[in-house]
Amino acid sequence: MAKIIDGKAIAKKLRAVVKAQTEQLKQKGVIPGLVVILIGNDPASEIYVRNKERAAEKVGVNARTIKYPASATEAEVLAKIEALNQDEQVDAILVQSPMPAQFNSEVIQAAISPAKDVDGFHPLNIGKLFANRSGYYPVANTPRGIMTMLKHEGVALAGKNILVVGRSILVGRPMFALLERANATVTLAHRYTPIDTLKLLAQQADVVIVATGVVNLIQGSDLKAGAVVIDVGINRLADGKLVGDVDFSSASQVASAITPVPGGVGPMTIATLLQTTVELAGQHHDIEMEQ
Ligand code: NDP
Repeated sequence: MAKIIDGKAIAKKLRAVVKAQTEQLKQKGVIPGLVVILIGNDPASEIYVRNKERAAEKVGVNARTIKYPASATEAEVLAKIEALNQDEQVDAILVQSPMPAQFNSEVIQAAISPAKDVDGFHPLNIGKLFANRSGYYPVANTPRGIMTMLKHEGVALAGKNILVVGRSILVGRPMFALLERANATVTLAHRYTPIDTLKLLAQQADVVIVATGVVNLIQGSDLKAGAVVIDVGINRLADGKLVGDVDFSSASQVASAITPVPGGVGPMTIATLLQTTVELAGQHHDIEMEQ
């Protein structure tokens, strides 16, 4: 039976580190500021944003949400982003996805100052990540949180064979880059990967990371014995139950360690968002923080 990787517990430890860092900043007169822009009234987004605000408050980050109706124009949101880019009190800006159809998410992501790009979606930050540039720059919080989890669990990455399923800019692509940077051999699978190929790749992988939104895409019989499984998917079944992209009951019989859904990757994403916010504040004020 696999070890269950407790994302909630690891996120709690990370939040304690972040809280200690906000206290260091506070002593120097700096309170990290996070602004979330929420456009429209998608109920799931409203819950995510509220959770982000609450979690931010608890660690001493000053978070506020700016709401726009679904009828808002791209021009007015761009003008707001420009004002926030100039605002000294604001260290981190994010625009909650999904955005209404009249918005081009690429335009919005590129408008946020790279120095305040807490989601790591600005093309400059993505380019630095893929080019493995030195120095500090923000990286997407879900894959970064997964790296923290893997480190916490003592999972060796260098020289390992790792399969990432899903290639979104939110998860799969930056996950690929972070793992490659950690000297793993990484395969990136997607919708066009034939299912037989996917299963073959999974059977050879030491670590399998799945972020597709497809229920039961990976089963226990697809895995190599002792593989580490990170399930990013969040899917709500007809009966209201939340499940991932991996069939937990069969996979946990074969894997050496596996993340549950809920309680795995999800809590790490929010804690990492706060970590990145505080780091950006440190960067803006040229303050080096203890880890
Ligand atoms: P997207 O819909 O943006 O991307 C899904 C990816 O999965 C695409 O690259 C797609 O391929 C690929 N895919 C779809 N079907 C298959 C298939 N049958 N076989 C192989 N690959 C497939 O989703 P996100 O990356 O934003 O999110 C993925 C999942 O992770 C969702 O369930 C989401 O809710 C969850 N999530 C969870 C987070 C957390 O904190 N726990 C954070 C972010 C997301 P292609 O590119 O070819 O279309």
